Amino acid sequence: MTSNNPQTREWQALSNDHHLAPFSDFKQLKEKGPRIITSAKGVYLWDSEGNKILDGMAGLWCVAIGYGRDELADAASKQMRELPYYNLFFQTAHPPVLELAKAIADIAPEGMNHVFFTGSGSEGNDTMLRMVRHYWAIKGQPNKKVIISRKNGYHGSTVAGASLGGMTYMHEQGDLPIPGIVHIAQPYWFAEGGDMTPEEFGVWAANQLEEKILEIGVDNVGAFIAEPIQGAGGVIIPPETYWPRIKEILAKYDILFVADEVICGFGRTGEWFGSDFYDLKPDMMTIAKGLTSGYIPMGGLIVRDEVVAVLNEGGDFNHGFTYSGHPVAAAVALENIRIIRDEKIIEHVHAETAPYLQSRLRELNDHPLVGEVRGVGLLGAIELVQDKATRKRYEGKGVGMICRTFCFDNGLIMRAVGDTMIIAPPLVITKAEIDELVTKARKCLDLTLSALQA
Ligand SMILES: *Cc1c(COP(=O)(O)O)cnc(C)c1O
Repeated sequence: MTSNNPQTREWQALSNDHHLAPFSDFKQLKEKGPRIITSAKGVYLWDSEGNKILDGMAGLWCVAIGYGRDELADAASKQMRELPYYNLFFQTAHPPVLELAKAIADIAPEGMNHVFFTGSGSEGNDTMLRMVRHYWAIKGQPNKKVIISRKNGYHGSTVAGASLGGMTYMHEQGDLPIPGIVHIAQPYWFAEGGDMTPEEFGVWAANQLEEKILEIGVDNVGAFIAEPIQGAGGVIIPPETYWPRIKEILAKYDILFVADEVICGFGRTGEWFGSDFYDLKPDMMTIAKGLTSGYIPMGGLIVRDEVVAVLNEGGDFNHGFTYSGHPVAAAVALENIRIIRDEKIIEHVHAETAPYLQSRLRELNDHPLVGEVRGVGLLGAIELVQDKATRKRYEGKGVGMICRTFCFDNGLIMRAVGDTMIIAPPLVITKAEIDELVTKARKCLDLTLSALQA
């Protein structure tokens, strides 16, 4: 992006000279220069060029209540003045973390009444791995160490998080996964279902869990972790047969089930948690993102009472973070949850905006580039293909990136995962803003198609 604005150029120079951006090609970013986002309100962002952009991704899936809510700034400011920091290591606690733990227990599925706080989702999953192994060791089954995860799942970017995740491009850098983590197939019918119906494929994909448990031996398996709906993998909505079959398998074998709710949690599906949406009964749930609407970093792990009862017998759990349960983050999270609850944001998503978004998005099915539109709640995915009937992709053209660039240049943020366009707007998006999103998406699909034909 070459800019005539000296202020933009100055910031881009700082980026080039000093900043290493996450998940970026450093050299390529230097050549292009980052877009500088300077302010935000509601569902809109503004960049340093004065462009107004509809944020179809809620930042990185996190800004549930939308940008610019003074209440969260006030909660942070008040807490910083009163008690900006204290740790929870020395048999101490502080009011915000205790009130937040209670508020989360109130909205979590029945029987999940305890929370271990972390600074991020990745740290939540690191905590999970250590807690699962500690749990089985206390129960006298220290061999139950293996965590089964899924290909193309996303569980963060720490060493354990990236190992639990099934992103091969992450594993390739840094000798991952670490030992004791194995991956099974994902329930991604559109890309991998072949000639099976979605229903057949859902059962097949779920059965991979049982096969893996039997292959490794149930005495060596500690847990299965999965996102209710894979987010970063491309908003993959499992076929209807998938979760019921997984639940049967989990009921049969004595292993823990961990729902990674970092994206699905706090209203994304029109329920408080993805586990509510699919009626899953997890033993642990990883949370982050929507917990604070992204206004401040915080994550955690919600743990079922029966698991806590075992941990209570295990002596010290030798794990924790300087910023576990940070008082300012906790105060912000509490205020965020209060707003979601008092303003009935999830009820509104469930009854109004989710059905509206899903029906409007599906209008894009008639577009020549679109092979499938799918979604749940305020999550959506649009598969870009060369041939609708066979689900054949445009090979090697980078169609997703082409479309993403058109979106950015036309005032819409839609993310590309390969050739899958995905959206997850703030939960407060209105119907008029959904209309704008779909209109812009169609325009960008048209531009993408023209570019491919040129
Ligand atoms: C983003 C994400 C994480 C990692 O959270 P961070 O806060 O980036 O560490 C873990 N799991 C899922 C499902 C996510 O989407």
